[in-house]
Amino acid sequence: MIVYGWNTKILKQAPLENYECPNCHQNQSAMVIYARYVHIFWLPVFPYKKTATIVCAHCNHETEEKNITLGTKEVIQKLKATVPLPIYLFSGTALIVLAIAYFTYAGRKDSEREQAYLKDPHVGDVYLVKSKEEKSQYNHYLMKVRKVQGDSLWVSYSSFNYNGIVSKLDPKDGFYNVMYAIHKDGILKLSQSDEMKKVFRDYSSYTGFDQEIEYHEPDSVAK
Ligand SMILES: [Zn+2]
Repeated sequence: MIVYGWNTKILKQAPLENYECPNCHQNQSAMVIYARYVHIFWLPVFPYKKTATIVCAHCNHETEEKNITLGTKEVIQKLKATVPLPIYLFSGTALIVLAIAYFTYAGRKDSEREQAYLKDPHVGDVYLVKSKEEKSQYNHYLMKVRKVQGDSLWVSYSSFNYNGIVSKLDPKDGFYNVMYAIHKDGILKLSQSDEMKKVFRDYSSYTGFDQEIEYHEPDSVAK
């Protein structure tokens, strides 16, 4: 759940001379200038309004800006104009902008690195591929490079298919202990047609990419 809303922050207070409180008729009022700002989880994102009130120190009566009478209004407008909006009221906006910039940058670095991996395959590289032919939602599978031989790659397939991007095999999954040869161009084509979703190298054992399982010929039926 995202907590958001608006809040106020007092920017400046100053005594207001010769002003009679409409409630208690004392002469002890102050001008208060404050900012209204939008917050997300109490972190100020941006201010959207600067406003003024008159507060009586004797009875706490408040006069909102729209109800302040002429003459007094000008004194307050002058004060209001001199008060800048503090920069920290934009901290949330700054954080959001920084986060977007960071993820954009990190994403670009990732895809540059993966492109370099594809051009120079190493034994152990794991490719996550989204199949265009598979019609069910389980259309993602993995293949692992076992051997690089000239223009050919020898790969093993994962036994499970997945319904999205994964970076960890199911504990019951693994790469079959059989290999198939494919041409390096085939891999590059997968990448150009956006079927290559991720390339993993230097992964930890947490990923399960070292899991291997025995391949069994499918039982023949209808003899
Ligand atoms: Zn008063």
